[in-house]
Amino acid sequence: MSRVYNFAPGPAMMPEEALATAAREMLDFGGTGMSVMEMSHRSKGYQAIFDEAGELLRSLMHIPDNYSVLFLQGGATGQFAAVPLNLLKTKADYVDSGNFAHGALTQAEAYGEIHCIASSREDNYTYIPDITPEMVEQDADYVYITTNNTIFGTRYAALPETGAVPLVADMSSNILSEPYDVSRFGVIFAGAQKNIGPAGLTVVIVRKDLLGSPRKDCPKVFNWTLMDEKGSMLNTPPTYAVYMTGLCLKWLQKQGGVEGITQVNIEKARLLYETLDNSAFYRPTARPESRSRMNVTFTTPDPDTDALLVKEAAAQGLVNLKGHRLVGGLRASIYNAMPIEGVQALCAFLKEFERKNA
Ligand SMILES: *Cc1c(COP(=O)(O)O)cnc(C)c1O
Repeated sequence: MSRVYNFAPGPAMMPEEALATAAREMLDFGGTGMSVMEMSHRSKGYQAIFDEAGELLRSLMHIPDNYSVLFLQGGATGQFAAVPLNLLKTKADYVDSGNFAHGALTQAEAYGEIHCIASSREDNYTYIPDITPEMVEQDADYVYITTNNTIFGTRYAALPETGAVPLVADMSSNILSEPYDVSRFGVIFAGAQKNIGPAGLTVVIVRKDLLGSPRKDCPKVFNWTLMDEKGSMLNTPPTYAVYMTGLCLKWLQKQGGVEGITQVNIEKARLLYETLDNSAFYRPTARPESRSRMNVTFTTPDPDTDALLVKEAAAQGLVNLKGHRLVGGLRASIYNAMPIEGVQALCAFLKEFERKNA
């Protein structure tokens, strides 16, 4: 067996231990004679798997009791609509810090008055725009941010102060990568396929006082209040994705939880940015103060060399380094499941590639 270091932005690398356990349990889960995929979501056996995944997430993120954890479908993109459908009464404030933030903003415009209070769009999202407390409208229903911008490789170094206005965060690409004080947020949501588990599951963490007044036209599957009442099982949940998520969260727990993995993530990002900064050949694209620890974006001197790098790296088992078309160049996504050895191998490759091509 030969596994590669997969730097894909998502679906992304998963802990090998979780995959191995799933393989072992594939045909016969815990003596049931069936795969988890074949279990009824209404069975006691499956309910235990579902509950355990939720409890692990609660414990790893230290989610307070006054928050509900929902396991939904439809991806983070589904939540771009669900957020206004559940929270928007009159108007909301959005921060346009990247392509997904922009997508959320334009989706929300279908449902009401949306104000873009800060944006870095004009500079191709190379930084997180400043948000001062005065910019937040105190009569807004919520303020919307994207804590890590996957495509552009930027991250909020500090959360905005929103006073009494609930802060809503798309945390798809850096949830569980560093400690966040959940009580600072009204809502956190994330597609699982970056840093939680496999695609198919969407996690929504919502403060309970924000439930209870969805818009009338909110589809039932996006209705947080209804889904909370039904234990996320109004309809069939993504059963296998939740099981896999549980295995990934158990692995994370063994790494010392979010606190433990944070130290590894800081070191991984430091190694990679140091390699890029110490070179006149590579150019990181995000401003230093806004750099992501999860998605590292950079270029070589020209697009042909970028393409050569992607090809040669892949031949050495360092795959999926091509940048998003909106940025070009290269992107190394180094989520929790990317071992530090993968980043060390990438740094060594980058130095050698520079020596040969500079
Ligand atoms: C990947 C991503 C999305 C889109 O997620 P889907 O699950 O594909 O809908 C949205 N926001 C951010 C920050 C992402 O990284």
